Amino acid sequence: MRILVAGAAGFIGSHLCERLLADGHTVHAVDNFITGRERNLEHLAHHPHFLFEQADVTKQYRPKGHFDMVMNLASPASPRDYLAHPIETLEVGSIGTQNLLELARRCNARFLLTSTSECYGDPLEHPQAETYWGNVNPVGPRSCYDESKRFAEAITMAYHRTYAVRTNIARIFNTFGPRMKLDDGRVVPQFVDQALRNQPLSIYGDGKQTRSFCYVGDLVDGLVRLSMSDERYPVNLGNPIEMTILEFAERIRDLAGATSPIEFHPLPQDDPKRRRPDITKARNMLGWEPRTTLETGLRATIEYFRPQVVEPVAV
Ligand code: NAD
Ligand code: UDP
Repeated sequence: MRILVAGAAGFIGSHLCERLLADGHTVHAVDNFITGRERNLEHLAHHPHFLFEQADVTKQYRPKGHFDMVMNLASPASPRDYLAHPIETLEVGSIGTQNLLELARRCNARFLLTSTSECYGDPLEHPQAETYWGNVNPVGPRSCYDESKRFAEAITMAYHRTYAVRTNIARIFNTFGPRMKLDDGRVVPQFVDQALRNQPLSIYGDGKQTRSFCYVGDLVDGLVRLSMSDERYPVNLGNPIEMTILEFAERIRDLAGATSPIEFHPLPQDDPKRRRPDITKARNMLGWEPRTTLETGLRATIEYFRPQVVEPVAV
């Protein structure tokens, strides 16, 4: 297939491009570098079936030629990034998603949206199944991301219902791995950076809030499976193993061989208290579940970051 990947220079997008090329597809990658980086795609630059285009999908965006599939990963995703770019985040989820849906419609292509567990907000149901409608503050600081993605899901369903575009919606839960940015503020790069420098680990709040972390290779496999399925309603993709942020900090500290103390900081507004995906639907419909252990994933991630950290602690 000839596949357009929007947001290709980002963390997940770059791994997805790699996987699609390995599966024998031709990839047309697009990114405006608002949060992504050229170096995430450096190793693919000379691949005969890979083409990169620098473009903003919220502007007049009409790439030439036919596509069999359009995969939309374009959006700032780290809270630090979307809080720094709230308007761009709302625009890419709305205008950007519609532009890409139009492209899919014109080409009679499949379309995949990468949505998020943030659609559930600070959830009142636990674990979160796709049937839960969420508890989102529509005017809080995180709303630029949450509502942008909720709109993106709504317009994706509308294109399916109105124009019969073959759409899929992935609700991705916290994902980590190599090619995250060391300074993007998300908890994994932040703790790894601090641990490798033997500096205090910054816990927001009391650290009793929970998350469930999925390794990027597993997540990409879920996206590929979902993109070939006929399921039009959202499907959760994430790791159901839940832990507190305090436990998570201790795991990273141990694996990095650090002795960093824990330091408590104020909890950001509307930070979800608990998050764990119910992945029954992905298991039953896609035959998918995460395979990589947290330890294996974290070791690979720590080794990716180690050379970027100035004067890491010896192990
Ligand atoms: P990322 O910030 O690393 O990648 C996003 C990419 O989109 C970046 O390269 C950025 O430059 C690009 N982009 C943003 N706006 C654009 C625009 N207008 N035109 C072209 N390119 C644009 O984030 P990520 O972690 O790789 O996330 C990828 C997707 O998965 C996002 O849509 C995100 O919402 C979703 N997601 C990620 C996670 C996670 O844990 N990483 C969780 C839930 C959902
Ligand atoms: N967090 C933390 N210390 C940090 C960064 C994040 O305690 O240095 C917490 C954050 O408050 C949240 C969790 O870790 O409860 C996950 O944060 P992240 O920004 O990675 O993603 P989120 O799930 O909030 O989108």
